[in-house]
Amino acid sequence: MRLGFANLPPRDYSIASHPGDKSLEFHIRVRGPGAVAEHLRSSLAVGEAVVIDGPFGDAYLRADHSGPILAIAGGTGLVPAKSIIGAALDLGQAQPIYFYLGARSETDLYAAPLFLAWAAAHRNFTFVPVLSDPEDGSTGRLGNVADAVAEDFPDMTGFKCYVAGPPPMVAAAVKLAAAAGAGSDDIHADPFVSGDHHSNSASE
Ligand SMILES: Cc1cc2nc3c(=O)[nH]c(=O)nc-3n(C[C@H](O)[C@H](O)[C@H](O)COP(=O)(O)OP(=O)(O)OC[C@H]3O[C@@H](n4cnc5c(N)ncnc54)[C@H](O)[C@@H]3O)c2cc1C
Repeated sequence: MRLGFANLPPRDYSIASHPGDKSLEFHIRVRGPGAVAEHLRSSLAVGEAVVIDGPFGDAYLRADHSGPILAIAGGTGLVPAKSIIGAALDLGQAQPIYFYLGARSETDLYAAPLFLAWAAAHRNFTFVPVLSDPEDGSTGRLGNVADAVAEDFPDMTGFKCYVAGPPPMVAAAVKLAAAAGAGSDDIHADPFVSGDHHSNSASE
């Protein structure tokens, strides 16, 4: 959706809540000197009016797909993955569902407890965090999230892939999914371009 805070230029944000939820949930990264980041950091108040427009784009679960689901995300790209995987689990979809989340370090894995809880509750869901710049003593999967996916899934024939996050990470993941045999209609990509760029396609 497109959110307008105060009188600032609107920005695109993915929806974290699941279809049917009564409220909309967003996760906004407040980092650097960006216009919205600065407003959220210093002035946003509870009760402030926010202009919302949309939804746009096509980050939603294709529930008619019965093959494996693979979500690949970097940073706040976890937001649409949360909504899509949550929708699949809510529907009781039984195929394997994998979520590979790239982050710099454990500090950026704020949502990991939720995904670990889902993995404990649903035997068909696997969560794999991948750290690119880990703190000392980090354990677990290290490196680039796209490389980890390529190692684990040399054959993605029949997979449905959802990819979101920084544009270079999204481009790498889309390329590897296509090379591993995922169909072009089964790769859904959501690059989080910064600033005034807007997603143009209205959702169906
Ligand atoms: C489809 C889509 C979905 C998205 N979903 C999300 C989401 O779920 N969550 C999320 O957090 N973001 C998401 N984004 C990104 C979001 O739209 C904004 O781009 C982001 O929040 C930055 O906005 P801003 O106004 O704070 O920064 P802007 O003012 O637009 O600045 C853009 C970048 O440039 C840097 N910058 C700005 N001014 C300077 C300067 N003077 N010197 C150096 N660097 C500078 C900022 O740090 C920032 O990283 C999404 C984008 C798209 C296209």
